[in-house]
Amino acid sequence: MNFIDLAAQYQHLKERIDLRIKRVLDHGTYIMGPEVFELEEKLAEYVGVKHAITCANGTDALQLSLMVLDIGPGDVVFCPTFTFFATAEVIAYAGATPVFVDSDIDTFNMCPEHLEVQINRILVEKKLTPKAIISVDLFGLPANYPRIEAIAKKYQLRLIEDAAQGFGGEISGKKAGAFGDIATTSFFPAKPLGCYGDGGAVFTNNDEYAELVKSYRVHGKGRDKYDNVRIGINSRLDTIQAAILLEKLAEFPIELKKRNNIAHYYSQSLPSSFIKPRIPSEYSSSWAQYTLLVEDREAVREQYAAKGIPTMIYYGTCMHNQTAFSHLGYTDEDFPVASMLAEKVLSLPMHPYLPASTSDYDDAN
Ligand SMILES: *Cc1c(COP(=O)(O)O)cnc(C)c1O
Repeated sequence: MNFIDLAAQYQHLKERIDLRIKRVLDHGTYIMGPEVFELEEKLAEYVGVKHAITCANGTDALQLSLMVLDIGPGDVVFCPTFTFFATAEVIAYAGATPVFVDSDIDTFNMCPEHLEVQINRILVEKKLTPKAIISVDLFGLPANYPRIEAIAKKYQLRLIEDAAQGFGGEISGKKAGAFGDIATTSFFPAKPLGCYGDGGAVFTNNDEYAELVKSYRVHGKGRDKYDNVRIGINSRLDTIQAAILLEKLAEFPIELKKRNNIAHYYSQSLPSSFIKPRIPSEYSSSWAQYTLLVEDREAVREQYAAKGIPTMIYYGTCMHNQTAFSHLGYTDEDFPVASMLAEKVLSLPMHPYLPASTSDYDDAN
């Protein structure tokens, strides 16, 4: 059994994907070809936003968003400590200071109460300027946007939704990628919507932000890439990856249903001693990961491994414990929930081509 089975997915979509790739090879516009713009239209339509702008990966999508919001030295950006490194990395790379926030014990997403505590702490210290929040749709579940959007408004902070894992998730029918001022996703192969290499996108309803992203992703272009009006980067999605994504996006709603079926099966059949993912009412997850809380994690992993079931740990190290952020001086006591999660989380295989039910998991305990 595979943790994620990209080969099975390719076999299922092979004819369509091969045809799409061949068309790109035939027309030869490998950079910014017509498939890129076709994909951007379809992505905007799926997410329900005015603009979808593709780029080279999900980390660049975050970096481009911080460039658009003009975030740099002296600024603070709040983000969860329990996330993938890229969320916090881009803040530091922009020269700003990441301030970490603890997790909600039920959803594992950023805790709105602790976010407000951290904002007030920075305001009282008066050393740095709070500028923005990056919230993460962890494991596919959108963060608590009703609360976080209200906090962003109250303190006049910009809000970036990191939907690298959340693409396909929803709150009350509103799709991940449509929250905040600007949102980002990743098409890394293992994400809910992945391509066959690196890829990413930025989503926004703001026309000015969209124009800036389009400029920044091509060397700060003005009229064209030889007219440079600002310092940008080179971050484009390859036409071949866009062609692959067009076929994968068409299949995505069906795959999302299958992921939900697997999650439902897991939640019904796994031992009651495991704490299973909790999805608040009105929310739906894209199930980037199916992540349990277990006591004695190593023993449980070994039991699954003995049955040929791979498991993963997302994430065993919070941002505040990463060597690269040790200078910020945080300890586990600052983030009690996230520190507990890092000790107990365990992710099970999750992909649409798993058998809808399998008895292998049932008696691991
Ligand atoms: C994967 C991921 C990213 C980065 O995406 P890449 O395409 O790998 O650069 C950013 N944030 C989160 C939460 C992720 O899971």
